[in-house]
Amino acid sequence: MAQFTLDGKKVEAKEGSLVIDAAREAGTEIPHYCYHPTLGNPGNCRLCVVEVEGAPKPMVSCRLPVKEGMVVHSNSPQALRARSSALELHLVNHPLDCPVCDQAGECGLQDYYMKHGQYESQVRENKLHKKKRVPIGPHVMLDQERCVLCTRCTRFTSEVTKTHELGIFGRGHKEAIDLAPGKTLDNPYSGNVVDICPVGALTDRDFRYKVRVWYLDKTNSICPGCSRGCNISLHTNTKRPWHNEGRRAARIKPRHNAEINGYWICDEGRYSCSKLDEDRLGKVMQLKPAPAEISWDAALSEISQSLAKNIEEKGKEGLAVIASGLLSNEDWAGFKKIFVEALKVSHFLFTPEPDQMGEEDELLRKKEKVPNLKGGEALGFGTQIKSESWESLAQKIESGKIWGLYILERDPSKVWKEKTKNLLDKLELIVFQSPYKTAIGNWAHYRLPATSYAEEEGHFTNFEGKIQKYEQALLPLGEALPDWDILQKLERHYKEVQSHALTGASK
Ligand code: SF4
Ligand code: SF4
Repeated sequence: MAQFTLDGKKVEAKEGSLVIDAAREAGTEIPHYCYHPTLGNPGNCRLCVVEVEGAPKPMVSCRLPVKEGMVVHSNSPQALRARSSALELHLVNHPLDCPVCDQAGECGLQDYYMKHGQYESQVRENKLHKKKRVPIGPHVMLDQERCVLCTRCTRFTSEVTKTHELGIFGRGHKEAIDLAPGKTLDNPYSGNVVDICPVGALTDRDFRYKVRVWYLDKTNSICPGCSRGCNISLHTNTKRPWHNEGRRAARIKPRHNAEINGYWICDEGRYSCSKLDEDRLGKVMQLKPAPAEISWDAALSEISQSLAKNIEEKGKEGLAVIASGLLSNEDWAGFKKIFVEALKVSHFLFTPEPDQMGEEDELLRKKEKVPNLKGGEALGFGTQIKSESWESLAQKIESGKIWGLYILERDPSKVWKEKTKNLLDKLELIVFQSPYKTAIGNWAHYRLPATSYAEEEGHFTNFEGKIQKYEQALLPLGEALPDWDILQKLERHYKEVQSHALTGASK
């Protein structure tokens, strides 16, 4: 370890570590554009300049190793003068279109200039114009005039995704970021370049002009898109949803977690927020014999009575439950209590094959497109309790061994396809519980609305067994309740039905 002085305070840091990192750890953020903790430190933006006593000129702190006894000033007149000169150069050709720029409110150029800039411009020449509003991929829009040529985006595509879509073209003051010939920025992680671009040069086509960033609330959450469990920040706009086509979830941003996802998330997870409120179930419905709205109490009481009657007449072996790795740890606990301990169900189907499987890669994406199979596994689902396959369950229904199906957040019609109707027609009781409408919901006797992950708090256990908390960002839509709450209420109703039956029998 080495001790050095930063702005008059003694700071301890690893000998040889970078002054910009040591300062951040000591609570001093030195302005910077090109430096990024995982993308290196080319030192080209010259913004992180500091004064070092004994050095003949200001030094770039992202390339300056800590040495024992060095004395550093990050805010001395010399450091501030050098920084404001660097900012002035960045702004020579910048269009200054902050009022119509989507980055306003979270822009490194805007923020640093307000803090360190020279407000009287010395530039008298006309600004050089470059390409504006260029869609460079399905998710990203490029504005070359706003770029400060920090090269973070090119380093991301060459070092992280290794897809090499972006580069710097031209020379001198005509240098600009652009697509490499024949390329489109359409890799599975393309949205990350928007997060790392310190200015409004790369903006998100899904988010642009929907809402100003200062209207957003931010909630710590976990992406439910696959078993990686990336840490995310869910940005919601509940006060003014009309600014955003009625969408409550405006965008998803990655939240740094060195052990899970680093600084990144995939596009699949990022853009899932646009579907959060689509095709939602809001009302408790009894669909057979005729569709009718019904209260939670009435629905759960009728379901309990039907379960008790069928179990008594046809046996508990005739009930099957289809569950999903979308359930939280709290949901799995409620699930086990009702279906394993109270109803003693012997046929479960919870593996994701093949309806919840997708692409996997070495960076983040996992093939199980559900967040929490491990949470179920911790309670025995997959170890002591085995899962049926779709085929074996279909055969059991076909042969009349199954009389009832309770389905949580799955759609068997995606797997059983044209056989679905024939199979479901053989059943006495079908209950469908989910946040979302699916084809299967229309065949159910009862359809129960559950909350989405954004409307509840809970925990997911990722593929490595790490338990992570997600917080509630939104109010539930309609009458939706968390799965664990529905299952707990159902257990209580079922126990009441049983105790009435026992009291009736003993009279
Ligand atoms: S587009 Fe953004 S990230 Fe890329 S070089 Fe320009 S300022 Fe940096
Ligand atoms: S890798 Fe998985 S958990 Fe991470 S953002 Fe993508 S879908 Fe979500």
